[in-house]
Order: sequence, then C-alpha cells, then structure tokens
Amino acid sequence: MNFCHSKHWAWLIAIGCWGFYLEVHAEDALVRLPSNSVQEEQHIDAMRVHKAHHFEAKTHAVVSSSRSTVSPSSASLTAHPCAYESEIAKKPPFKTVSLTFDDGPSPERTEFILSVLEKYNIPASFFLIGEKVKKYPDLVEKIAKSGRHLIGNHSWQHPNFHDIDADQQEREIAQTQQAVQLYTAEKYFRYPYGNSTCESRDQLHHLGYKIVGWHIDSCDWAFDKTGSVSEHDAQICEVKAHNTSNFIEHTLDAIRERGGGIVLLHDIHPNTLKQLEALIVRLQREEFHFERLDSVDFEALLN
Ligand SMILES: [Zn+2]
Repeated sequence: MNFCHSKHWAWLIAIGCWGFYLEVHAEDALVRLPSNSVQEEQHIDAMRVHKAHHFEAKTHAVVSSSRSTVSPSSASLTAHPCAYESEIAKKPPFKTVSLTFDDGPSPERTEFILSVLEKYNIPASFFLIGEKVKKYPDLVEKIAKSGRHLIGNHSWQHPNFHDIDADQQEREIAQTQQAVQLYTAEKYFRYPYGNSTCESRDQLHHLGYKIVGWHIDSCDWAFDKTGSVSEHDAQICEVKAHNTSNFIEHTLDAIRERGGGIVLLHDIHPNTLKQLEALIVRLQREEFHFERLDSVDFEALLN
C-alpha cells in the first residue's frame, strides 16, 4: 500500500468516526431523559409481580374453560371476582389506536411525550397519580394547555386496591379527582396494576366515572436498558421469541393482532419512551389512526 492510498483510508476512517460521533451525540441531545429512581425501579418490580398474577389468572382461565373441573388454585382468583377485567375483551374500532400514559406526571418525561405527540398532532390520555399532580402542577398544566389530551385519575399513591379497604379506595379516588379537577371536568379512572375491586367499581359507576382498561399492554417497563426482556418477563408479557429485543415490533405485533385498540404505556421508563416516536411513525405508515378515549368509538367500549 503506497502513502497516498493509506492516507486515503485514514481520512475515510476519520470521517466515519466523526459521523458516528455526531449521530450518537445528536441522539443524546435530542433525548436526554432522567434514569429511573430507586423508587421507580421498585415500582417496576411491583408491576412485574402484578403482571405475573394477571398472566397466571389468564392462563388459568383458559385451562379452566377447556376442562370441566375446578382446580384448588382457583380459590385465590375467585377472592376478587372483579380483579382481572382491565384487559378489554370488546373489539376495538377498526385500525384505530388510543395511546394512554400512566403513572405521571414526571419531570422531563411528560414534556418529552407531549413534544412527540405535538409533532405528530396525536391525541392521547394521561392517567396521573394524585400525589405527583400535587408535586408537579406545572406539568399537569402543560398537558391541559395542549387542549389535545385527556387527563384521567390513576389514584393518589398507586396502591394495589386489593390490599386496601373500601374507605381507603374511596379516598384514593376522591383525593386524586380533587387534584385533577383543577385541570379537567372529565371523570376517567384507571386502576393501579389494573386490579379492580367490586366495591370501588360500583362506587365509580355511581359517581359517573368511566373505568378504563386496555386492549394492548405494551409492557414497556419490562424492556431494560439494553432494549431486551428477560425470559420471565417475555413469558408474562407474551412477547414472541423474535421480539424479545425489539419493543417496537412487540407492541406493533400486539396492536396488529387486535386490529388497533387502547394501548397501555407508562411515562416511567426512559429507554422505551425514546422509542415512542418510532412507534408512532410505524403505526401511521401502517395506516392506523389515533383517537382519544372519549371519542364515540372508544367510549362505547368503556364501562
Ligand atoms: Zn400505574
């Protein structure tokens, strides 16, 4: 190799490295979201536990329906007969998606979600935790001021409603509604972990709330910093083998299978939030369109 030739290669390598540097740093500058706090990691652990219970209940229901006998483990499931209804069985409107973001508001992350939704002119719903509404009123104000999004009630401290008595359940709902009604007159409630109880369901209906479940649980919390799910989480989240390192394809597959629907996402996990824009672009490319929960099409599916 003569001198000119080696110099040529050196230039090419230098340009390539610079291009890579720019690309990586441009992305960092675009999406620099705070990592999860210890408390948020504990919250993710709790979601994992409850998701595993839901998966067990779902699997048990399928097995039970294929057999005439009832196994002893069904006793734990019948203790909460209203417990596993957050996954909506009714068919969603054709090729229509309603994005929902739970557990906010959170500094930077909520603003990031709002900026992506604004860029694509997409409406969504935010199910907020009451004590965070009190802590971050400016963020709730931003959601409300967009005029595009629905604000819902997701309890005050995100407890498991199966573990607290009826009075506490009532307080969790009422206190949060008092906080969010500064920004909205709407009354939509989503249970923490999707764990409903009969007593609170009756009360919510009596007070004129719509209870909101989902068609698609993205399990965004289960995709870790490397973008992958563990074997355990893949099983409980029903992530197909070819999607265990691909959050977008996993979510798209689940949406395609239902033909659209209400999608459960969280404003808790920076790694998956960074993929929100790509998910929206893919959905639009596949001619899905976006509606709010209170559209005629979706409202008919809520109870
Ligand atoms: Zn939640």
